[in-house]
Amino acid sequence: MEINAETKIVGLIGHPITHSFSPLIHNFAFDILGLNYKYLVFDVLPENLKDAIKGIVSLGIKGINVTIPHKETVLQNLDDASSEARIIGAVNTIVNDNGILKGFNTDVFGFTESLREFKDMVSNTPAFIFGAGGSARAVIYSLITNFQPERITIANRNLSRAESIARYFSQVLGYKNFEVKEFFLPEISADIKSSRLIVNTTPIGMYPNSDDIPIQSDDIFHPGQIVYDLVYNPPFTRFLKFAQEKGATVISGIDMLILQASKSFELWTGKQMPVGEVKRFLIQKLKSRRRKK
Ligand code: NAP
Repeated sequence: MEINAETKIVGLIGHPITHSFSPLIHNFAFDILGLNYKYLVFDVLPENLKDAIKGIVSLGIKGINVTIPHKETVLQNLDDASSEARIIGAVNTIVNDNGILKGFNTDVFGFTESLREFKDMVSNTPAFIFGAGGSARAVIYSLITNFQPERITIANRNLSRAESIARYFSQVLGYKNFEVKEFFLPEISADIKSSRLIVNTTPIGMYPNSDDIPIQSDDIFHPGQIVYDLVYNPPFTRFLKFAQEKGATVISGIDMLILQASKSFELWTGKQMPVGEVKRFLIQKLKSRRRKK
């Protein structure tokens, strides 16, 4: 659609922003629904964050996605935030409602919805999480509030970070069944084997390091498990390949990526993103980019 005086602007702030798929996802969805919106990318240094947030209001920008390193610090610059965003301590979507800025965390929706069809399988069973960063917080929040896991094991390189997440969610959500482990200990194999849901929330395996994998042996996966990799580029990681070969059901980070985007899209436009078409388009784009390299 042609840009004109009515065009509404949404976008992404972060630093550095090298290869985000969000412009592709949103602009494709705006085009197929014929919405007069454009999604732009703004590289914002931490020292300019406050001014950039004021600029959302003064320029009449409809909404903004927020990525590293601003997801946590942006909270103090907003008028309001959803309870999820407050509890997780991170905002990835801002809505400008006539000058009032409200923050949301749509990663929770993305993760929860992508697991929805497996709800009976994963509810009240043990879950295992690699990583204890920002996305792990959204995953843990989603698991506790929607799937009531029997236990959550967090394996992280920095053990104290995992301990502090476990302590935090025990306090704010009253969930006590955490175990924390060091990432590289061989003993975590037994915890993985006995878990129904295994989630990688680290960037291990992400392009261009697509040969990397967060496990030492693939003899830990079996049918009946759900193995989820938040990494979305490549869409089908080596980690997922190992799990699938052993009979586990696998979920790619592409699903969460598109579903979290669909929630932002809905918050900004009031319309539903055509997620199936967007997914086919994105996978095609990723394949053709890789062929060109
Ligand atoms: P983050 O806050 O920086 O946390 C990264 C986590 O990974 C930390 O726990 C870190 O451990 C661990 N880690 C990093 N490199 C490691 C390595 N070489 N070996 C062992 N552990 C390592 O990042 P994030 O925001 O959680 O994002 C993590 C990944 O999830 C990224 O690939 C991101 O693209 C993806 N993601 C996907 C979606 C989606 O929609 N699919 C949404 C959000 C994030 P330490 O604490 O020890 O440093």
